[in-house]
Amino acid sequence: MTMFQGKTVLVLGGSRGIGAAIVRRFAAEGATVTFTYSGSQAAAEALAAETGSRTLRTDSADRDAVIATVRESGPLDVMVVNSGFAIFGDALDQDPDEIDRLFRVNVHAPYHASVEAARHMPSGGRIVVIGSVNGDRMPVPGMASYALSKSALQGLARGLARDFGPRGITINVVQPGPIDTDANPADGPMRDLMHSFMAIKRHGRPEEVAAMVAWLAGPEAGFVTGAMHTIDGAFGA
Ligand code: NDP
Repeated sequence: MTMFQGKTVLVLGGSRGIGAAIVRRFAAEGATVTFTYSGSQAAAEALAAETGSRTLRTDSADRDAVIATVRESGPLDVMVVNSGFAIFGDALDQDPDEIDRLFRVNVHAPYHASVEAARHMPSGGRIVVIGSVNGDRMPVPGMASYALSKSALQGLARGLARDFGPRGITINVVQPGPIDTDANPADGPMRDLMHSFMAIKRHGRPEEVAAMVAWLAGPEAGFVTGAMHTIDGAFGA
């Protein structure tokens, strides 16, 4: 598989879970891959060695660091913004600083990274942001900040598609449902509740999300932009 031979790819948040599967997929298809991490240095270094990729510590909560990393990694053919996290619990009890950090990582970083990437991206460039089906459907309490952040990405993609489309650059959001990662293990306490919402009653695999990202980043998807692509076993249906 050499669909991305000669292509330069940056994955923000690639050390574990869905991001690591995306790194593996692009590397296996011949791309020159750089990926970032914030805390998991050992996992990042192991993945970089495994895939022949370059890794950089860049906290996606740090706007200027994100912009600098995008600039220094470019010009990019493909950028994937995967870094993101959720906060659970009663909204009345949550630390406002933690909520603001969530917005910096889940919303501000995708916005600023996308704008910076597009400055130098050639025609045919691709931006893919990892959202969530919770941008469409939030069936449980305690996750409003996360739902808000993932809904915001829908506006991001719709708006920037208009800005970048004339230059041949696409931007899309991939919206996973439950995917088996450290953040949402298939044997976790929420498993049965989550599966009760789904038509295909299992967690998805990170590789399944990576396959959708690869298609959106590839040559067959040049007419696809400003759109949400849900991969969720019908969690949101
Ligand atoms: P994990 O927690 O398993 O992995 C998160 C990855 O993002 C890690 O590589 C982590 O790196 C990186 N990351 C997190 N915060 C930062 C940061 N501040 N700066 C740089 N990198 C960061 O999560 P998932 O793989 O499950 O989730 C990946 C994305 O998919 C997220 O955006 C999440 O919201 C979304 N998603 C996940 C679903 C699921 O069920 N798993 C469902 C729907 C959406 P490090 O460890 O080095 O900090």
